[in-house]
Amino acid sequence: MKKRQKWKKNLMVMTAMTGLGFSVFYPDFSTPTSAVGQPDLPLPKEESFSIVQLEVPNQNAKDKLLELGIDLTHRASENNGIFEVDAVVTPTEISMLKTFGIKVKDTLVTEKQWKTRAAEREAALQQETNLTAAEDSLKILRANHYTNQSETFLYIEAKSTAGASASTALTATWTENGVEKSATLSRKVDAGEYLYHYLEVPVSTIPASVKLESSLGGAASSAVTEWLGKDKPGNPQTHYVKDFVDHYMDPTELYERAENLAKEFPDLVDIIEMPNKTNGYRRLAQAQIGSTQENSVVVTSKAWGHEGGNDISVEFKNPGSNDSSLKINVEGKKVLVDLANNSSGQIISTAKQVVDAINADSSASALITANTYRGNAGTGTVSSATVKLTDGLIAPANISRDPFTVKAIRIGKHRDGSKPGVLGYAQEHAREWVTPLVTIETAERLLRNYAHDGETKKLVDNLDIFLVPSTNPDGAHYTFYDYNMQRKNMTNYCGPAQSDPNNRNNWGVDINRNHSVGSAFDGFVGASTTNCTSGTFAGPAETSEPEAKNIVWLADENPNIKFAMNIHSYGGYFMWSPGAYDANRTTLPRPTAGEEAFYWAASDTILNDIQDYRGTVILPSRTGPVPDVLYSAAGNSADYLWYEKGIYAWDFEVGADLWDKETQKWKPVGFQPSFEEGHEEAMEFANGLIGMFKVAYNQSKDHQRPTSKVVPGGGKFTGPVDVTFETSEPATIYYTLDGSRPTFESAKINLSGVREDAEALKIAKTTTLKWFSVDAAGNIEKNYNPISKDKSNYNSATITIK
Ligand SMILES: [Zn+2]
Repeated sequence: MKKRQKWKKNLMVMTAMTGLGFSVFYPDFSTPTSAVGQPDLPLPKEESFSIVQLEVPNQNAKDKLLELGIDLTHRASENNGIFEVDAVVTPTEISMLKTFGIKVKDTLVTEKQWKTRAAEREAALQQETNLTAAEDSLKILRANHYTNQSETFLYIEAKSTAGASASTALTATWTENGVEKSATLSRKVDAGEYLYHYLEVPVSTIPASVKLESSLGGAASSAVTEWLGKDKPGNPQTHYVKDFVDHYMDPTELYERAENLAKEFPDLVDIIEMPNKTNGYRRLAQAQIGSTQENSVVVTSKAWGHEGGNDISVEFKNPGSNDSSLKINVEGKKVLVDLANNSSGQIISTAKQVVDAINADSSASALITANTYRGNAGTGTVSSATVKLTDGLIAPANISRDPFTVKAIRIGKHRDGSKPGVLGYAQEHAREWVTPLVTIETAERLLRNYAHDGETKKLVDNLDIFLVPSTNPDGAHYTFYDYNMQRKNMTNYCGPAQSDPNNRNNWGVDINRNHSVGSAFDGFVGASTTNCTSGTFAGPAETSEPEAKNIVWLADENPNIKFAMNIHSYGGYFMWSPGAYDANRTTLPRPTAGEEAFYWAASDTILNDIQDYRGTVILPSRTGPVPDVLYSAAGNSADYLWYEKGIYAWDFEVGADLWDKETQKWKPVGFQPSFEEGHEEAMEFANGLIGMFKVAYNQSKDHQRPTSKVVPGGGKFTGPVDVTFETSEPATIYYTLDGSRPTFESAKINLSGVREDAEALKIAKTTTLKWFSVDAAGNIEKNYNPISKDKSNYNSATITIK
């Protein structure tokens, strides 16, 4: 019993201190240590990270994982009661987990591999910058027409001097029967090398000439001549361009790309600037002076690093005279601390005394705040030293340090709220590099196929499409330049005891835990409200963060939004609400049986479209409500959209495991796979996102009323009867058993259990069932009006039991 209590105490300490990051377990860090007689505690060293697969033996250990704020990825599975999950951990965290019986099965990705990704991206970016810095020149290689058995085609091949960049798009225009037509060319790349752009489209008459224009400004034109191979067998396929991303993009680049699209397609695109600016890719400047926990002083600038904090320096000096007292002088941006001496000239100032002296000096405290190390009593004697403060941020100067305006790309022929809205938003979690590419690729496909592809035109003409490429740009900039594994935003809510520079990778709020439905503040599981360094820190309050407020704002401003996709990585999941359960494992209310059936039916369309690209199968075991296939995620944004705004809201986890034939095992892809793999994920999930648009389009065109019947029907029975409902399409059944007319307030048919079918009603005595059904598009069976009392065209059946 005693032992258990000790564990509990240590656990509380660990909970406060660990999480993802450089923090290390020091059980007695809060106990004041005397300066004499006890050895000083060393400062924690920065540790490297890896993604490992953990084997969690039981529910208790699983709960511990969440409690400790271990930084879990989105990939998890359960086999014979043993839970396996990928986590981002340090060696210290690994040894701590072992004490709870949690084993490391496999190391999946090392810090070195993440660094390689950043370097690869830099190289690609440099190439892109070199290529797209100036107007390109175009060369038309051929412009031909030919006619096969059934169709006449226009075929164009051209080269751009900037063709090696996937963002360089060439558009051809020509005239058929006096009508101007246009289409975007496809980019031909082989083994990573750009060859040329091309286009093959059926034409109604042979155009005399074609004109080519590049998105970079280059232009060329050519007469159209006949290709000799008149009888060349052709396959009159629709011309459809894709593949517009060729490297991982940071938010600055993503939003520049978005702005460029809006300029190029003013009739189809608006850029929406969302009102809640982020805190910004910025930090206060800091330094830590000292060699142990007892004698360390942490200083933090009042100004942001880039606004003067980085210019501050602090010097601890032995004045060289005996019996001198502690004095603070400030010269410009230099804080000079003359340390106190004893009669033999030895320094006697302790960390705590220096901290108090700095904070009491008005000139020094105008520049900086001083603290002891992580709440230490600071009884250790300090040494002379000179340090320069720094915010530690290393992104190049073109990455703004100011609060960032998050934008949505709004695409549609009619962007006035009159069409059904669909929303795709990515990168709530900063390190998920593939996710923004899904939105950019989707935007490019919609715009560049609009002129020529009927299916695309149908979607763009009939939907109001909102795409947010990077919900969490500050964290995303940080993940590209400073720390690959950043998940949260950059806002530090930790007090002084957690705000030393060694904790800089642990601050921030998990944007997908900051929402107000099923939140950790209401007791739901899967986020921390108290541990500011936890990987799933929910923030100081519900919807405290601008990144979360923006998604709420977008849904408020655009009540036409009916479908949403929250795009994450990795693991290859397709999920919907409920997304969280409470301490008793009671989930948020399940969708009705009809809604659940609609979710599954839509999955069929969306997952088939994903599979079309390269055969990736999103597994049935990774499809369904979040807690059924992954874990509880308190305060996630999809739950907010579904429960609060009535939006059909899904989560994608892009990056399905790859099957390794050699080992006969599924292999995870990680947050930042080689671009070769990341590119494929972006392509297949852009297919999936467009699949969701098709679902939205089909739903908007659904005016067919559902029909339903009970099985067995009304009649005479000798004993209790199980009654089920059959509907012509996914639809919610509202019913009564007391003879009253059914309304929207009546009972609904729910699921009989997790991942099961609709429930059956057990009828034990003679009962008249009255009911109606409503499909996902809101069509009501038989045009019944449940609100108006004079209508009675609902269904009715009497079960008579003798
Ligand atoms: Zn995520």
